[in-house]
Amino acid sequence: MSNTYPPTLQLHIDGEWIDLADRDVHHVVNPATGKTISDLPKANIADLDRALDAADRAFPVWRDTPVNERAAILRKAAELMRERAPEIGRLMTAEQGKPFGQAAGEVTGSANLFDTMAEEAKRCYGRVLVRPTGQQSFVKYQPVGPVAAFSPWNFPVFTPARKLAAALAAGCSIILKPAEETPASAIEMIRCLVDAGLPSGVVQVVFGDPAEVSSHLIASKIIRKVSFTGSVPVGKHLMKLATENMQRTTMELGGHAPVLVFDDCDMGKALDLLAMQKYRNAGQVCVSPTRFYVQSGIYEKFAEEFTKRAKKVQVGEGFGDNIDMGPLANPRRPEAMEQLIGDAKAKGATVRLGGEAIDGDGYFYSPTVLTDVPLQADIMSSEPFGPVAAMRPFDTLDEAIEQANRLPLGLAAYAFTESLRTANIVGDMIEAGMVAINNMTISPGDAPFGGVKESGHGSEDGPDGLKAYMVTKAIHQS
Ligand code: NAD
Repeated sequence: MSNTYPPTLQLHIDGEWIDLADRDVHHVVNPATGKTISDLPKANIADLDRALDAADRAFPVWRDTPVNERAAILRKAAELMRERAPEIGRLMTAEQGKPFGQAAGEVTGSANLFDTMAEEAKRCYGRVLVRPTGQQSFVKYQPVGPVAAFSPWNFPVFTPARKLAAALAAGCSIILKPAEETPASAIEMIRCLVDAGLPSGVVQVVFGDPAEVSSHLIASKIIRKVSFTGSVPVGKHLMKLATENMQRTTMELGGHAPVLVFDDCDMGKALDLLAMQKYRNAGQVCVSPTRFYVQSGIYEKFAEEFTKRAKKVQVGEGFGDNIDMGPLANPRRPEAMEQLIGDAKAKGATVRLGGEAIDGDGYFYSPTVLTDVPLQADIMSSEPFGPVAAMRPFDTLDEAIEQANRLPLGLAAYAFTESLRTANIVGDMIEAGMVAINNMTISPGDAPFGGVKESGHGSEDGPDGLKAYMVTKAIHQS
């Protein structure tokens, strides 16, 4: 398997693929080597204005395209994504670092989202209200208008796919700004949509200085909806920008997922699932299990067995055979690991495994297990977004729930128990947008995905995700 990353990349604006020319450049780096692999053009203000104008013109064209035709184009794009998954997966591994199998799987998973939304669009029913003869009242859902969407580098195809599939199914035009660090795989997904027959200007892709692009697009009255996946501070900043034009927002922000492991759980199953999920994408996942609260009766045994499994995680360049975990995606992540793990150690945590960067040019970090982590350690409050499991014991159900709800974040939460009563209480009481009990399935595509508290608002995926790109209208007719 070779790296076929193109040396230069393009923007897609108003139906045209646009080269670097005299635009500013962002250098794309392979995180496994630390070397520049491509040059990415940054959109200038004229490019952004052209994209806004094209999105404005394309919106009524796409909105008025019959839903079956819209759905057929989305399904065709999904088919192309599946055909091109190996090629797109190779680009993703080169720019983001994750193992090739996971990268190609992300592309096919994203294709499935387009299929799901193509079907959801056909079932976006309104309501007819009961009225006296001769009068009618209807509730209708209509596409909100042109969308500006901003997606991060941890899932370079899946996170933008969520926004694209829902917005396009709803009948909106959309300008996407994927992460500059991982552009090529997102560009290739846009190419699938263009090749599937989307009218010009319905989907566009721009890159640039993130703050400049977002402030310029959101300042435009053309944009009616802002969707962002990324960190809490940036989400808050974009929401402030969106108040000016009263744009609707969907904010998928950070998490710090608690895992409650009860004495009565099926421990073998819990260990296998948790050890696999913890190190997937090197822990750079907003729903990654991060705060492990393990009940005292099994705490020691669980920590020992988890560490054994973590030791088996094969770390290496994502194109290598049997690799479970690649490098971290950028130099900021190993730096953050050093800082959080150093702080935990200094405050009394035990490092059972790892806790150090792996020598070399890339951004590799060893799978890490910390036990007896004091609550005062920063890692118990700040999302690590890296390959580290932080564990501590608990005694009672009440204590476990109190700990789970301690932070201002509430994205995903996990629990392992064989007690139906405990499962019911945990499901009801945990302050999180998604709770998985005895499994790690948090993102099946047909269920709402999103957080509460500072983890954001609005849902992606399924019928709720489609509605996020629609406005509700009441029509009263006599
Ligand atoms: P960051 O806050 O600088 O950037 C996060 C994302 O937002 C990036 O994709 C970036 O390009 C984009 N961004 C930054 N400023 C922006 C702006 N003004 N307008 C529009 N987009 C902007 O952080 P980072 O160093 O890339 O990642 C660090 C933290 O971000 C992680 O620790 C994690 O908490 C969070 N994060 C969350 C997710 C998620 O899936 N929810 C994904 C990536 C990062």
